[in-house]
Amino acid sequence: MFAFGEKVLLIDAKKRRYLFTLKPDGEFHTHSGFLAHSVIVSEQEGAVVRSTKGAEYILLRPTLEDFVIQMPRGAQVIYPKDLAPICMMADIYQGAKVFESGLGSGALSMTMLRQGAVITGYEIREDFANRAQINVREFLGTEALSNYQVHVKDVYAGITETGFDRMVLDLPEPWQVVPHAETVLRKGAILVSYSPSITQAVKTRESMRSGWLDLRTLEVLHRTWHIEGASVRPDHRMVAHTGFLTSARYVGA
Ligand code: SAH
Repeated sequence: MFAFGEKVLLIDAKKRRYLFTLKPDGEFHTHSGFLAHSVIVSEQEGAVVRSTKGAEYILLRPTLEDFVIQMPRGAQVIYPKDLAPICMMADIYQGAKVFESGLGSGALSMTMLRQGAVITGYEIREDFANRAQINVREFLGTEALSNYQVHVKDVYAGITETGFDRMVLDLPEPWQVVPHAETVLRKGAILVSYSPSITQAVKTRESMRSGWLDLRTLEVLHRTWHIEGASVRPDHRMVAHTGFLTSARYVGA
C-alpha cells in the first residue's frame, strides 16, 4: 500500500503520466478536478482512483526511467536509452569504484548507484552538484548518498583520489581528462565517455595514445512502435540523435 512520503505515478486515460510525492495535506490538481493525496494512501499499485470531476487515474510506483524523465533538471540529462548501455559498456557492478564527471542533474549517477557503484564525482557548478545529490536522495533515499562523494571541482585540473575501477565522463572536453585517467585508474579499468558530437569522440580517442585497448564508439538508435489492432508499424517520430558512447580499457604504459 502507498504511504505518505512515497512517490506515486498516475496514468490518465490519454496515457499522460504524473509523478509526485504523497503528502498528508497534498492535492493533485488538473483541469478535470482534483484528488486528495489521502485518497491514494492505503491504495495498492494498479488501483484506479477518481478526481472530483470523475477523471480516472491508475496508480503505480514510478520506475527510475519515470523519475529521470520527470525529475527537476539543471543540466541536460542523459536519457534512459543511453543510460543502460553506458552501464553495460562500463561494466558497472556491486562495489565498483567509479569516478564520474560532470554530474549535471545526476541521472547517470543514480543509474550507476542503483547498480551498486561507489561513486566519486566532480562537478564544476555548485548548483548542479547540489541538484544531483538532491535527485539521488529523492529517488534512492538518504542511504544512497553514502556511496556518492561529490566534490565541486574542475576535473580538467586533475583528480586527487586514485584506484578507480571505472571512469564515466559526460563533459564538453573529455580528452582533457584522459591524462588524469592514466594516473588514477587501475590496470584493466574501463573508461566510458558520452559526447553529443562525433568530433568530441574522435578527439577523445586520439588522446588515448598508449596503454589503452579495445576502443569502441557507438550510438544507440531507439525506435518505438505503434501497435494497435491492424496498425502495426514504427512510430512516425523518433529521437534521431542524442550522443556517441566511447569506451576503452586502460592497461597502463
Ligand atoms: N550525465 C549528467 C549530465 C551532465 S551535463 C546526467 O545524466 O544528469 C555535463 C556537466 O558537466 C554539467 O553539469 C557541467 O557543469 C559539468 N562540467 C563541465 N565542465 C566541467 C569540468 N571541467 N569539471 C567538472 N564538471 C564540468
